[in-house]
Amino acid sequence: MKSPTARFLTSLLALLASHALPAATQKPNFVIIFCDDMGYGDAACYGHEKIKTPHLDRMAAEGQRWTDFYAAAPVCTPSRTAILTGRLPIRSGMCSARNRVLFPDSLGGLPASEITLARALKERGYDTMAIGKWHLGHLPQYLPTAHGFDHYFGIPYSNDMDKVGKGDNIELAEAGDYEAYNVPLMRDTEIVARPANQHTITRRYAEEAVTFLRARQPGKPFFLYLAHNMPHVPLFRDKPFAGKSAGGFYGDVIEEIDWSVGQVLGALKDKGMDEDTLVFFSSDNGPWLIFKHHGGSAGPLRDGKGCTYDGGMRVPGIFRWPGKIQPAVVHHIGSTLDIFPTFFALAGGSLPAGRPYDGFDLRPALIEGKPSPRQDMPFYRDDTLYAWRHGDFKARFTTQGAYGADARNRTDHDPPLLHNLRDDVAEQTDLSAKYPDILAKIRALADAHRASVTPVENQLDKRQKKSK
Ligand code: MG
Repeated sequence: MKSPTARFLTSLLALLASHALPAATQKPNFVIIFCDDMGYGDAACYGHEKIKTPHLDRMAAEGQRWTDFYAAAPVCTPSRTAILTGRLPIRSGMCSARNRVLFPDSLGGLPASEITLARALKERGYDTMAIGKWHLGHLPQYLPTAHGFDHYFGIPYSNDMDKVGKGDNIELAEAGDYEAYNVPLMRDTEIVARPANQHTITRRYAEEAVTFLRARQPGKPFFLYLAHNMPHVPLFRDKPFAGKSAGGFYGDVIEEIDWSVGQVLGALKDKGMDEDTLVFFSSDNGPWLIFKHHGGSAGPLRDGKGCTYDGGMRVPGIFRWPGKIQPAVVHHIGSTLDIFPTFFALAGGSLPAGRPYDGFDLRPALIEGKPSPRQDMPFYRDDTLYAWRHGDFKARFTTQGAYGADARNRTDHDPPLLHNLRDDVAEQTDLSAKYPDILAKIRALADAHRASVTPVENQLDKRQKKSK
């Protein structure tokens, strides 16, 4: 017969176990699938008439497809900073007009003082893995493994960098010349191949994701960040997809990414984790239109990657979590900035103190079908606030084309231009004279935001000195 002390300890252990187990299993898993330069109009569920995306369409039908969802910057490095930190890149020095992104000779990266979603979730018991493009610093102190990810597999920056081949990116891609780009493929902190064979990169990222998912243990939550290098120019796709899409070479690339989405969803289902896992799909910025048929489509939006017209920053935004997220097409405003606060809240965390966050917790919209808490969207080009959306209205303080000759046409507007995006999604008709009160309100919101920004050391302007 047990002593009273032993009986007490036994019942205490049982009590602890009964409370500990459900709490551990209640934390949802998270998968972010993040494309590089996929446009707003590139998926069938966003209106593309030639490119077939059955897996994304299914994600959208079973979850929420947001029509007014924004990346937080029109180019890669600052956009990726935002999705992983929940903060505008101006707050961490991860944006610059001199160097719009990080390069292979960059000496900077995401500062250790920034808290990534991976680091925050890791502290709540999550297994974490980053696959694909990183672009927040390739030096050891900036890699995913230094920012809360247990493991990393991927190309640490853009797939057009380390260019050693001659010719333009379209010709080299159509010739299948992946060796023209001497980009490294890394596992954790080691280079495992160079140049990375980009023909198979999307497939290998998908396989790596499936391997990670199959290895998960029950009751141990995870966060998988799957950031494809595609469809960033130069385009590559694996043999089974070559020449298959009615949308041409670019369509082949998107259809392979769609296949990879199917691989991830299939692995979750096979593992019985479908209803425990929130999958989010998006893109880091709009389509790179200077590459014509090798760039994607912004659909009805104006312009593309590199600028603050909606075509540069409005991107696909699809959330799927069977049984939890109410299936819907959502026309409220959301942003990749909201991913950190939303996911961390779902994991039971509250935002770290002592730093301003620019994201909102979207749980009311996702879980309860209520309006999005986000009413505003700032549009930064590099380190300057070019535009601001409040409700349906967008004020443009400065306009400038994305790339090429048009990029030199910078114009400041006083009064700012004003568009009603609900009626004028292509930002053509200036309503500033008609709605001075709305303009005044937006100006006040933008001023208040600017006042909240504290200058920090710039990370993108630190580059190796060129030897002569
Ligand atoms: Mg990009």
